[in-house]
Amino acid sequence: MRTQIVAGNWKMNCNLDESLHLLNALKLKDFTKAEVEVVIAPPYTNLYAIHQNLSDSSIKISSQNINENEEGAYTGEISPDMLKSVGVEYVIIGHSERRAIYNESNELLAEKVTSALKHGFKIMFCIGEMLDQRKAEKHFDVVKKQLEKGLFHLSASEMKHVVIAYEPVWAIGTGETASPEQAQDIHQYIRQVLAEKYNQDVAEQTSILYGGSVKPNNAREIFAKKDVDGGLIGGASLDADSFAEIVMSF
Ligand code: PGA
Repeated sequence: MRTQIVAGNWKMNCNLDESLHLLNALKLKDFTKAEVEVVIAPPYTNLYAIHQNLSDSSIKISSQNINENEEGAYTGEISPDMLKSVGVEYVIIGHSERRAIYNESNELLAEKVTSALKHGFKIMFCIGEMLDQRKAEKHFDVVKKQLEKGLFHLSASEMKHVVIAYEPVWAIGTGETASPEQAQDIHQYIRQVLAEKYNQDVAEQTSILYGGSVKPNNAREIFAKKDVDGGLIGGASLDADSFAEIVMSF
């Protein structure tokens, strides 16, 4: 019933030529068998060209960030309308690298969420604890707070446009993944928090992706878990074969 999604977060990798090369390699893959929505999040500078070159591919485009303002004196920023105008459908909000390196607070992320919804984007909202928080067994509290502060100003009907990506920070780019059981535990908890805040329907209908060192050799067992509805893939999304294998792991 829930949409299964595999999204590739290219981060700050791939210039224009490299992006088109990767896209062309992805277009040769037959994703139709997997019944999964495939999303790629290239860097801003390549969004337009990627959109132009998608032709009849079913791959969807995401941005890696969004600015919460409409327009104006925000040097270096990209507005929601600009993203719309180049064919972006999804936006990633609250990635741990944005939270940690660019100090994006829960309050700012809530504003970004509101703005993205107003402009008709689907949102991939990222949450996840740091290693010390996991060691102190605070991971449940951490993700709950991130949901409450960043997302729970939305109504139940607005939540239809939101996908949650659980990404433990200690597993991002480190080669260390949460075990399938650890992923299932927290995904189930997130669903329970959604049910308490909204209702059972919202809890059942919201896709919750896992992210953090997902590779072709571990995707299948993670995706097999009941409350894991796909993945947000960093490093492995830069290689078309690896990414396609992950998509086919469903
Ligand atoms: P990774 O990144 O797959 O390289 O760990 C995941 C992410 O940051 O979304």
